Amino acid sequence: MSFQAPKGTFDWLPPQSDRILAVRETLVEAVRRAGYGYIETPTFEDTDLFKRGVGESTDVVTKEMYTFEDKGGRSITLRPEGTASVVRAVLQHSLQNAGQLPVKLWYSGSQYRYERAQKGRYRHFWQVGAEALGAEDPALDAELILLAWQGFAAVGLKRVTLLLNSLGDKNCRPAYRAALVEFLRKLDLDEATRARIEINPLRVLDDKRPDVQAKLAGAPLAVDHLCEACKAYHEEVRALLTALGVPFTDDPKLVRGLDYYTRTAFEFVHDGLGAQASVGGGGRYDGLSEQIGGPSLPSVGWALGVDRTFLAMEAEGLLDDLTSQRVEVYGVPLGEDARRRLFLLVNELRQAGVSADMAFGGKGVKAAMKGADRSGARFALILGERDLAAEAVQLKDLTTGDQTEVPLAQVVEVLKGKLQ
Ligand code: AMP
Repeated sequence: MSFQAPKGTFDWLPPQSDRILAVRETLVEAVRRAGYGYIETPTFEDTDLFKRGVGESTDVVTKEMYTFEDKGGRSITLRPEGTASVVRAVLQHSLQNAGQLPVKLWYSGSQYRYERAQKGRYRHFWQVGAEALGAEDPALDAELILLAWQGFAAVGLKRVTLLLNSLGDKNCRPAYRAALVEFLRKLDLDEATRARIEINPLRVLDDKRPDVQAKLAGAPLAVDHLCEACKAYHEEVRALLTALGVPFTDDPKLVRGLDYYTRTAFEFVHDGLGAQASVGGGGRYDGLSEQIGGPSLPSVGWALGVDRTFLAMEAEGLLDDLTSQRVEVYGVPLGEDARRRLFLLVNELRQAGVSADMAFGGKGVKAAMKGADRSGARFALILGERDLAAEAVQLKDLTTGDQTEVPLAQVVEVLKGKLQ
């Protein structure tokens, strides 16, 4: 019997795994330059945090959570997203009182959702996120959107589109919701969708099925029902994005899957991903803190899907040169004494900042040379008994095949020079 990774999960292996590390870092470079601080929260939380924070009517909470009882009888859930945990941590540690607002934080971590698994949609996936908590300012919404945009640009993506909408706030949303419900109730829809009208009518607008979309033509839209304050706020976000040179498309049907959004909602989509086109998204969540028992803390943030960003990079041909250069130098020992000396030399190289490996497991020279090739190293160091007696080593350039003899005492310096 052999084990497989659970359905909907996969392993990151070299050489892709090295790139995914770099992608996670690069996506948040702009955020870090903007003074956001790193936060790490547990991968699991009290189930109620997500029920109240993400919203009882969302797919995430009703269908997708990994929930279990721990040995102490507590209901625990593997985090399906990052924002609720960040707000919980801010409130728990009173960060909103500790200094200047907004509190600016970023995170990077795995998320868990029991979804229907397919390409680009996994049960275990990675997000990087950024949140600015405790300020209501259109410039903050624009800043976060810009930082995400810069993240995608930094990994080289060119085919990302930004979709933008405003969902209104607690003043204008109820009237809009009522108008939408009235419209939707008159439509001929299946039972599950009819049920959704009553608990989360905005989500119906997000239905991807073409026949449903056809019926939704003429549905009332949030942008047409914004109060004056929401309208002015939204216009300012749009004006700032334009001034920043961030292109966007107004998408009046964009609602996002989580309940907590108010006013600004946005999503980044990529045209090379088929059905799972969303590479990131976020918005303003002015009511979330109060929903989980905290004070009023108007906030805005986003999460970018790292796995999907990787797929988008693949679709744009940005990973075509993915080589597996594990190390720069590879040692090939011939004989026991040489093996011992080479082991020390490889360590010296590593300490001098040169990445190096050698043949282990007592291989013969042919297998060891194959190991050198497979490692992707540029140079092989071949050490035999005769070299050892002469205090020298054979340095082979694996791209040209040229071989020269170098004194053992000088080889670290010589290699450092050649690799610069
Ligand atoms: P959300 O937290 O649902 O707003 O999603 C933010 C981003 O996370 C999406 O744009 C996707 O890129 C990514 N994402 C969400 N769910 C999944 C999933 N099941 N598998 C892979 N990526 C996901």
